[in-house]
Amino acid sequence: MCGIVGYVGSRSALDVVVEGLRRLEYRGYDSAGVAVISEDGTLQTAKKAGRIENLDRELAGVTITGQTGMGHTRWATHGAPNDRNAHPHTDSFGRIAVVHNGIIENYAELQSELEHRGVEFRSDTDSETVAHLVAAELAASGGVLADAVRAVCRRLQGAFTLVLLDRDHPESIVAARRSSPLVLGIGEGETFLGSDVAAFIEFTKNAVELGQDQVVEIRSDGYTLTDFYGAPAQGKHFTIDWDLQAAEKGGYDFFMLKETQEQPSAVADTLRSHFVNGQITLDEQRLDPGVLREVDKVFVVACGSAYHAGLIAKHAIEHWTRIPVEVEYASEFRYRDPVLDRQTLVVAISQSGETADTLEAVRHAKDQRATVLAICNTNGAQIPRESDAVLYTHAGPEIGVAATKTFTSQVAAVLIVGLALAQARGTKYGDEIRAEFANLQAMPAHIAKTLELADSVRTLAREIADSKAILFVGRHVGYPVALEGALKLKELAYMHAEAFAAGELKHGPIALIEQDLPVVVVMPSPVGRPVLHQKMLSNIAEISARGARTIVIATEGDELAAKYATNLIEVPAVPTLLSPLVTTIPLQVLAAEIAQARGFDIDKPRNLAKSVTVE
Ligand code: GLU
Repeated sequence: MCGIVGYVGSRSALDVVVEGLRRLEYRGYDSAGVAVISEDGTLQTAKKAGRIENLDRELAGVTITGQTGMGHTRWATHGAPNDRNAHPHTDSFGRIAVVHNGIIENYAELQSELEHRGVEFRSDTDSETVAHLVAAELAASGGVLADAVRAVCRRLQGAFTLVLLDRDHPESIVAARRSSPLVLGIGEGETFLGSDVAAFIEFTKNAVELGQDQVVEIRSDGYTLTDFYGAPAQGKHFTIDWDLQAAEKGGYDFFMLKETQEQPSAVADTLRSHFVNGQITLDEQRLDPGVLREVDKVFVVACGSAYHAGLIAKHAIEHWTRIPVEVEYASEFRYRDPVLDRQTLVVAISQSGETADTLEAVRHAKDQRATVLAICNTNGAQIPRESDAVLYTHAGPEIGVAATKTFTSQVAAVLIVGLALAQARGTKYGDEIRAEFANLQAMPAHIAKTLELADSVRTLAREIADSKAILFVGRHVGYPVALEGALKLKELAYMHAEAFAAGELKHGPIALIEQDLPVVVVMPSPVGRPVLHQKMLSNIAEISARGARTIVIATEGDELAAKYATNLIEVPAVPTLLSPLVTTIPLQVLAAEIAQARGFDIDKPRNLAKSVTVE
């Protein structure tokens, strides 16, 4: 979590850093802060709890000049989100400043060691220990910052990206990473650091991804990369293919609204180049079909919306391949001793590719010799690096904290994995796979058509924005869609929202139904699953008999469902396994509009951050 920016060059470091922080604010917004080595050789810091606007106010009227600086937006793990705990943190002499992303797990023992040596702590964070440890190391060794950082990193446990300034050496910045993200941007006579490329995309497209346990010293004319012991190390060079505009709002009030509209192209781009010469292909690092043929069990591990994509994967993969699929929260999987072996395929889904829970699940799966396939949206992130294979969703940058286009792209991606497995194991003929893929390729147009309903969904949303609670029900793949709809509403509108498998209602939750309570019903198609459709009709009848307001998402022309709907939202007719790609769309629009009606910032819901890099 948290966003980090660093800069050495000839521009005003403050301007570059604050602008970079603005682009990274989706990563955490508990506080924001900067440190710059100013021209008179002093270390200047400014920091403030809350959003960047608060830091902007703090900086108004203050002159901070200097060409070397760094900044941080925080997602608090240790210590309240207040001014005192905002980064950067400095040592007792004001020589060293540090910003940190992650958790130093052994900070308590390091802190008591420092306190015994007389250090007084000025924050409640785990991060401040690093400033004092580095200062002590520099004082003891008389060496340079990079050596001191390497020595300290060898003592740290946990996950971290650290960026440090030494007031006495304005020509460079030192940074380190273990299990948290860090990317370098290489410009002409200037070098950048960022938690992701959005931090410096406006200045350079030339980037280097740091590897695990590496320390980098950046200068205006380049950088030096080593491991934690000082041995030369290699990063991974790449050219950024996102442009600045893609990372900006494009005329919408919120990134989330723009990203919702981008779903047809995100899904189309994700499907592109996965069907070549009549064959399904996975991405860059292709899995050997021999390995796929041997798979006898699949686990999908994921968190949040990605977990819901996993539940959809279960239906498709089991139906197409007859291989049993288990879907697990990554945070549970790692710690419950799951049964895995060489014939198990673990599909790890994470938008950012850096979700700590999912990363730990991947490591556990690798330890058990399972094959791991990652589904991620971010090139070169840690999860794809540690997996055997990767299938990238090509959704482009998603800045809104609530997943929209990355969720539907993940659904498209898991369907590709299902078809790849069916192809490798021969459970479907070539022409059947071709037909299924053609159905998938038609989905972007169906999503675009569903988006045309947005205005009527928004009108409905305003009518129910004051409800105390909203329930969601679905069956089969409609159930994960209901879960996703409820999650969107919780995270954006801070409303009590719950999803149930419709058949479960009468086993308890139906007691919640009361007069006028909005209940969103995700109907299966009457053609694709007539039996399910029939059962679901009975469920809506039961709900409306108890006076609830039924908001029914049904296939166009489903007259039977229309009879029980207080509000009917008709989506295009598509094959059942693919239907989440359309039925999810109105639920995204509904949640975003209810949240706006209630006056909330839908890009930055409270207490959340976009990529969850702590367990
Ligand atoms: N653990 C540190 C803190 O709570 C860093 C959190 C972050 O990644 O923003 O301040």
